[in-house]
Amino acid sequence: MIKNAQIHFNEMGTPVADNFDDVYFSNDDGLAESHYVFFTQNKIEQRLLSHDQNHFVIAETGFGTGLNFLNTWLQYDALKKAHTLPRLHFISFEKYPINHSDLATALAAWPTLAQYAKQLCNQYPISLVGCHRLEFDNGNITLDLWFGDVHDSIPNISCQSKGIVDAWFLDGFAPSKNPDMWQQSLFDAMANLSRTGATFATFTAAGFVRRGLQQAGFECQKVKGYGRKREMVIGQLPQADGYASTPTYYETSTTKLTNVAIIGGGIASACLAFQLSKRGIKSTLFCQDDSLAKGASHNRQGAVYPNLQANYAPSSEFYAHSFLYAKRFYEHIHSLGFEFTHQWCGVLLQAVNPSKSAQQQNLVNKGQWPDALIRPLNASQASEVAGISLPYGGLFIEQAGWVNPAQLTQAVFNAAQHNNYSQAHFNTDIERLEKSPNGWLLHCQQHVFGPFSEVFVCAGEHTDRFEQTQFIGLQGVRGQVSHIQAGDVSSELKTVLCHKGYFTPALNGQHCMGATFDKDSKSREVSEQDNITNRAQLDKFYAQTEFAQSLGDITGAKAAVRCCFADHLPMLGQMPELNDLTSAFKNLRKGKHYGFEKLQQPFEGLHVVTGFGARGLCSAPLATEHLVASLCNEPRPYSERVHQAIHPNRFIVRDLIRNNI
Ligand code: SAM
Repeated sequence: MIKNAQIHFNEMGTPVADNFDDVYFSNDDGLAESHYVFFTQNKIEQRLLSHDQNHFVIAETGFGTGLNFLNTWLQYDALKKAHTLPRLHFISFEKYPINHSDLATALAAWPTLAQYAKQLCNQYPISLVGCHRLEFDNGNITLDLWFGDVHDSIPNISCQSKGIVDAWFLDGFAPSKNPDMWQQSLFDAMANLSRTGATFATFTAAGFVRRGLQQAGFECQKVKGYGRKREMVIGQLPQADGYASTPTYYETSTTKLTNVAIIGGGIASACLAFQLSKRGIKSTLFCQDDSLAKGASHNRQGAVYPNLQANYAPSSEFYAHSFLYAKRFYEHIHSLGFEFTHQWCGVLLQAVNPSKSAQQQNLVNKGQWPDALIRPLNASQASEVAGISLPYGGLFIEQAGWVNPAQLTQAVFNAAQHNNYSQAHFNTDIERLEKSPNGWLLHCQQHVFGPFSEVFVCAGEHTDRFEQTQFIGLQGVRGQVSHIQAGDVSSELKTVLCHKGYFTPALNGQHCMGATFDKDSKSREVSEQDNITNRAQLDKFYAQTEFAQSLGDITGAKAAVRCCFADHLPMLGQMPELNDLTSAFKNLRKGKHYGFEKLQQPFEGLHVVTGFGARGLCSAPLATEHLVASLCNEPRPYSERVHQAIHPNRFIVRDLIRNNI
């Protein structure tokens, strides 16, 4: 669990870290010093103007108050007025995040940064270990805040062999005050993540730091320090060292994404179109229905909350960070003026039986999750939060809530369309995919669309209908949500309740109540029996409560098929071809170090984005961002283990390792 910084403000108003006994920035004009040491000495301005990629990546050790980040943003903004710039990607590592109110106090000292500081404070994340991706300036500026010790975080970054970082801001408290950070392993890790030509700058002139950086491969140079300081050190990496945390069999080939087709009209498609549009990449969406969100995304109220286990396992990490990003993402879409009905009213996971209760107690005891994400409540606290009397306590996810999925999908897609970055063909049923020499052709009954450089199949239960995707291993699970008339007591419900199913606060006099899980059916027909099942499931736990007794009749229902994979994680990336993978990576049967052959990639350019189950609202925004970032060779928001956990090759690779195929 992450600990927050303990700080006080000295007589000059400068924040001081109590456990390091050091200042966050210089007492005399910390902003000017930050600018000189990190921005100027890394020659960021010149390099932004002549960069070779669509994104420029700065990485920093020690986010602290965010002064370096905000100054970089200020400079970037000024330059952007007269020049076309690459997108700015700022990665910062922080072991002890400053709490929200200290951050606001510290940043109040800089009037020139006020408009940027306000936006940072609005998005500043809770103290959860891992990568929090924040976006500003309509996606032109990305901040990846990696909470945790930099020594633990860097190896978790998902990175292929060419490196990702263009410039390092090697900050951190003075080496004498913080010797644990200034280690050879840090300098080596910096070199590992660097692209050829990456630079660094650091305020310290300590000899062991310079020697350590040299040993890691950087060419180093002493230059004049800021103000009265005699020296500081800068340097450059002449050649990237070829390090990769992503093994060959989990790579994502980077691509230009010149002409993109998206098949499917649900939340995953809309998020994908948006994440592409943010980068200026156009896409064309094909939907077999007459409007978006007719499939699994069509409920009236869909709960948005993460599925957390007691341990910080890859799937919990995936859901926790996806959820926190999704919340920011949807709020951004809303702030752009794209409306959708929603309520961030919290989700209460009720301990409805002894086994649930033990499971929840285990999660609390393990202490992996900050209270700001999920916290235990007893029955009376739960009743207070819910606004109705409840017989059980539970876990409360305060930031969660519900959205109208169809409106949300439309809003996200409208945002993508806003700049003509996405267009849609409705009532267009793509039946066949063909790879031609010029790209992918999409066949429907009367027409052939294409060629496209990339095709993303986000077609939910229909994803496996194509010859190329038929063996993907998708499982369809039918689910029905019933709509039930609110009563006088149930109308008071203020939060989403989860028992075995879920129950939402009333909207227009109706609650959503569900859902059924039926592995053996793919029917979207509403069934009377499923309405009875939903009511029985609620009554099983709440029959004695006033709210359940106050409910009226079931007035309608929606049924959908959610699709998922055996490991309950979605799949995003290039569609693998079984023979190609088993032949290229056959040596996995012997061990991971026997070398591999080159993939032939018969399905190059064909990607799948599917298997979100009932959790697409929570996970689609960040999962699609991860995929697009990977394809564009940008830093990835998920850690390497999560990258692997959602990679399409995972089942075949696991089988090869176990010698099962
Ligand atoms: N760059 C910051 C700014 O612009 O406000 C100031 C950084 S402050 C001098 C040093 C920061 O490094 C502190 O916030 C501290 O918690 C963080 N830090 C120290 N050791 C660390 C470690 N091992 N991993 C990650 N962060 C660390």
